Amino acid sequence: MSLLQPADVIGHVREITPEFLAARGLRGLVLDLDNTLIPYRSYADAGEVVRWADELRGAGIRLYLLSNATAKRAAFWLPRLGFEGVGMAGKPNPRAFQRALTRLGLPAQQVAMVGDQLFTDVLGGNLVGMHTVLVRPLIDNALPHTRVTRRLERAVLRRYGHDWV
Ligand SMILES: [Mg+2]
Repeated sequence: MSLLQPADVIGHVREITPEFLAARGLRGLVLDLDNTLIPYRSYADAGEVVRWADELRGAGIRLYLLSNATAKRAAFWLPRLGFEGVGMAGKPNPRAFQRALTRLGLPAQQVAMVGDQLFTDVLGGNLVGMHTVLVRPLIDNALPHTRVTRRLERAVLRRYGHDWV
């Protein structure tokens, strides 16, 4: 399997339900923040995604935030999201993912890494043997370095038959 190939490609995190997870033998999620749970740079109300996270946790699913955002931004969102995690994670460094698995107390095969970027979220998750779920970015940020990354992501995804990014 290619290290850049996600196991699942979805349009929005809310498509992840207890049934979706049970069908794949998953008991925990490691979640990216920016453009996965919350629009890039946003500090606005995230009621829907918080309710979704609460429902999963109510169903016994363990959640952990693994974000490359600043520590300050992660500290803003963690109490609002209601579960543990870190900013400045250094994805795709596999050590960041191993630490997240340790915090969840679950083996890699029972945890999905969920994020919007192939070269950080999917690559790092695959490197440690997690299930990987690529989610469509919430907003299309037009930063120059992101444009180049997105072009590369599109090229990789097309090879796997995904045409939506
Ligand atoms: Mg992201």
